[in-house]
Amino acid sequence: MLIKQRSEPLELTILKTLNARSVLNATDSANFHNLDKGYRGEIMFDEYMKEVSNENNLILNDLLLEYKNTIFQIDSLFQFSNTLHLFEVKNFEGDFIIDDEKWYAIGTGRKEIKNPLLQLKRTESLLRQLLQELGYPFPIEAHLVFINPNFQAYQAPADQPIIFPSQLSRFREKLKSRFPALKASHRKLAKQLLTLHMEDNPYSRMPEYQYGGLEKGIICPTCHTFYATFKKTYLLCHECGGIEVNKTAITRSIKELRLLFPEVKITTNLVHDWCKIIKDKKTIRKTLSEHYIKMNHGKSSYYVNP
Ligand SMILES: [Zn+2]
Repeated sequence: MLIKQRSEPLELTILKTLNARSVLNATDSANFHNLDKGYRGEIMFDEYMKEVSNENNLILNDLLLEYKNTIFQIDSLFQFSNTLHLFEVKNFEGDFIIDDEKWYAIGTGRKEIKNPLLQLKRTESLLRQLLQELGYPFPIEAHLVFINPNFQAYQAPADQPIIFPSQLSRFREKLKSRFPALKASHRKLAKQLLTLHMEDNPYSRMPEYQYGGLEKGIICPTCHTFYATFKKTYLLCHECGGIEVNKTAITRSIKELRLLFPEVKITTNLVHDWCKIIKDKKTIRKTLSEHYIKMNHGKSSYYVNP
C-alpha cells in the first residue's frame, strides 16, 4: 500500500522555471539536469513498481531522515512482514566500467563518478542504526536499481546488491508473490518514519536570481516554452500546440511567482507584468479575486492566500 507519494523537489521546480526564464550558469544548469534526470528515474521506478503495492506491504517514497546529525535520503522503502527493502534508484544512461571500488562513465573519454554502492551502504547503515534506536530491529535488504534500459555496466561484480534493467522484471515478480500480513509494529514504524521525515532539504543549493533578470510570460506546462498566442479565453503554445484556459494559466503563474518570490506582494500590476501575454488587466483582476483575498483598496491593494 502506498502511504507516501513522491513529489518534485522544490529545488528542481525552481530550477525548471529559471531555466525557462533565464540562462542558467554552468553549475546551476548541471545541477538542474542532474536533478531532473534523477527525478524522472524515480518516477519511472514508481510507475514500474506500482503493481507490487497491496495490503501486505507499505511503500514510502522519498524520505529525508536524520540520524545523529547526519541527513540521509531514501528513494523508496518497501516494508514487508519479513524484510524492509531499501531502494536507491539511478537513472544512469550509457556505458560504465566498474573497476573494483571505482566507477567510470565511458562515453567521451573515461570519467570517474561517485561509486553509487558506497552511497547505498551509507544509507543502509544509517537506516539500520535509526531503526535500532527506535526499537525495530527488522532485517533490511538494500538495492541499487538502474532503471534506464540504456544503461550498461561492464565488469560488474555479481555479488553486489545491484538490480540491472534486465533483472528488474524478475525482481518485481518476487515482490509480487504472497507475503504474510503486516503486524501493528510495521504500521507503527511507517508512521514514525513519516513523522521523522524532513520536508526541507537543507542541502538544496538554491540558485541566485532576481525579478528583473527573468523573462516574463506564461510557460506552457507541457513543453516549458512561452505561450505565443493570446486569445480572449485561452492561450496557445506554438511549440507543442497545447492550449490552456487563461484563468488556469494565470493561477499557475501566480503560484510560480509566489514560489520564486515568497516575500513579494501580489498585485494586479505585478501579475500583469509577470504574465506579460495576458493583455487585459480585467482577466487578471478577476482571477485574483476568485482565488485570493483582497487586502486594502485602491492603489495599495494586494492579494493574499485564502
Ligand atoms: Zn507547449
